Amino acid sequence: METKREFLKKLGLLTVGSMVAGSVSPVLASKSKNSMFAAGKSIGLQIYSVGRELTADVPAGLKKIADIGYKTIELAGYGNRKMGQYSVEEYRKLAEDAGLKITGSHVNPPVRAYTKDNMGEIADFWKVAVEDHVKFGVNTIVQPSLPSVKTIDDAKLVSEVFNKNGEIAKAAGLKWGYHNHNMEFNRVTENADEPAPANPWMKRGEAIYDLFLNNTDPGLVFFEMDVYWAVMGQADPIEYFRKHAGRFPILHIKDRAVLGESGMMNFPKIFEVAYENGLDEFFVELEGIQGMTQFEGVKGCFDYLNNAPFVK
Ligand code: MG
Repeated sequence: METKREFLKKLGLLTVGSMVAGSVSPVLASKSKNSMFAAGKSIGLQIYSVGRELTADVPAGLKKIADIGYKTIELAGYGNRKMGQYSVEEYRKLAEDAGLKITGSHVNPPVRAYTKDNMGEIADFWKVAVEDHVKFGVNTIVQPSLPSVKTIDDAKLVSEVFNKNGEIAKAAGLKWGYHNHNMEFNRVTENADEPAPANPWMKRGEAIYDLFLNNTDPGLVFFEMDVYWAVMGQADPIEYFRKHAGRFPILHIKDRAVLGESGMMNFPKIFEVAYENGLDEFFVELEGIQGMTQFEGVKGCFDYLNNAPFVK
């Protein structure tokens, strides 16, 4: 097996000086780790993870994200047709200047309780959001939070809206998806006054997430599973990937804090089975850190995945 030294030499990256010294300089060593040994790894970041620190200086913050090694970002914070103080075009330029590609975005519609009467208003919102997101250059647009669902019928109406949103996005060449927290794994029945027990082993009612999966069109709606929140909802991501193959092309890779440190998340198995069932992109999400900055936290997450043999 060739050594790292032989490998570098073959690529012409080992300088005479470092050969004489018998070691690779720290600068070269750290550069080689990202740009050569892991050249094929595309690791994305949901920018909510660095929210307050990024907001403090967006151009510098985006550069920091790229410097860590992230290649793609998923936006959070689009509203009023802008990203904070920046227009769509300005923000895209800042990202590109930093060396980042905006591939996705989280977008919240203005209403939480969907009815037959406000479906038109919701559709109008998505038409505008989709138009702006074509300009951002994203592939995907994702709703990150749960509308009001108290009954099975509510879940079916929400699914109908999701299908419509998917149609609007598809017409513009984007994919529309839904991102979960833990509440989606609560169960509902036909009767709002008799909510089902939340515990999945008490098999009464149906999980809201299952109702969404079963009542949306796979050609129009994908699911960006947040694997940490699924586990917090007492659900097994692996079981979902196998049962609904192809519906989870994108994941949120999240842990209680920095990835891989809690022991709660079986990331090797999650990646293995997700890849087998159609995973092609993922975004790191970070919350819950203590005693470090958000940028230090997302650096820790990046290093974990970049060094992980189970991440392609
Ligand atoms: Mg998430």
